[in-house]
Amino acid sequence: MAKENIKKGTQAVWAGEKDYLVHGATQVPVVLSVAYGYNDMDEWYDVATGRKKGHIYGRNTNPTVQAFEEKMKVLEGAEAATSFSTGMAAISNTFSTFLVPGDRIVSIKDTYGGTNKIFTEFLPRQEIEVVLCDTGDHEQIEKEVAKGCKILYLETPTNPTVKITDIERMAKAGKEAGALVIVDNTFATPLNQTPLSLGVDLVLHSATKFLGGHADALGGVVCGPEDLIEKIYHYREINGATMDPMAAYLILRGMKTLHLRVRQQCENAMTLANYLQKEELVEGVYYPGLKTHPNHEIAKAQMTDFGGMLSFAVKGGMDTVKHLLPQLQFANRAANLGAVETTVGPARTTSHIECTPEERAAMGIPEGLIRVSCGIEDIEDIIADFEGAFRHAEKMFTDR
Ligand SMILES: *Cc1c(COP(=O)(O)O)cnc(C)c1O
Repeated sequence: MAKENIKKGTQAVWAGEKDYLVHGATQVPVVLSVAYGYNDMDEWYDVATGRKKGHIYGRNTNPTVQAFEEKMKVLEGAEAATSFSTGMAAISNTFSTFLVPGDRIVSIKDTYGGTNKIFTEFLPRQEIEVVLCDTGDHEQIEKEVAKGCKILYLETPTNPTVKITDIERMAKAGKEAGALVIVDNTFATPLNQTPLSLGVDLVLHSATKFLGGHADALGGVVCGPEDLIEKIYHYREINGATMDPMAAYLILRGMKTLHLRVRQQCENAMTLANYLQKEELVEGVYYPGLKTHPNHEIAKAQMTDFGGMLSFAVKGGMDTVKHLLPQLQFANRAANLGAVETTVGPARTTSHIECTPEERAAMGIPEGLIRVSCGIEDIEDIIADFEGAFRHAEKMFTDR
């Protein structure tokens, strides 16, 4: 079967593993060895200098980690991929690979809290100019990119208000200005969106989230053309933010059910979003699958489904949140997302804890905003759970 005809679900199960199976094993082994020995000095030299395939030292490469990179490369339709200890390591190492003092980077205000911190705290002190545009204001981004920049960095859908940016349009703007266009694809996953096919240069993920899917392993990955990935790999192999082989194994195993999980998570998110829209105590629901979402049409065009993340704002702000969330039986109240369990949390304690209330307000994040990462549970139970929690919170309201 021609490679390009193989569907994503089949790729998630099979891709990238063949070369790493040994002793007839049907599963990729966890290779914990830090070093790789050679009796032949010429062979050792050839592997160490990249003339021959093989491994030297665990900070550089590892077979289990490479199997994960191979699978990601196929799913994102990339020439190459390189991995990291965390998603933040993927992001910061990519910046460090390409940015030097005097450079300019254009991005959006709604990036992941940690990414935003890099923009506001760490890059400026390296004399890198950071321009953060209003998320979804395509004209403003185009204008800033046209002034010249080294990197245009995007995230879509965004955390936590799930705003959508037109990837193809932004990739074009970036290309014209000679910028590297990078997209954080963590929320969409390669099943719902492949930014490289829309013209961007690099796509990256926190593998900790949907890719791993079980909230038990940290990881990050960047996918793109060979020459760019080689540069990022080189920076990482020296700086040492290497993915752990055990984490690579857990994420690989998680990825075998990626398509099943994400399909269910999208379905649950759509159903929950529709329910929340009718709920008395809810002030606003943010989900790109809703027709009321300002960029629903763009989302429909560039995504195959709308993802498992949504958020909603409640009447009464944090007071209501405090009564509502502890009532939920089938939800972890935690900072994580993308897991098989439904996970909830106020944006101010999860994605945007690093920001001040003023910074959050500037990003359009109400203090009573609740982020929901939909799990794979039966949605009827989740709706009933929320319904019960709302009635409890409502009672607190009327009792005051
Ligand atoms: C979690 C997350 C990150 C950071 O990933 P870690 O693995 O926690 O370092 C980056 N971007 C997005 C969109 C995320 O959700």
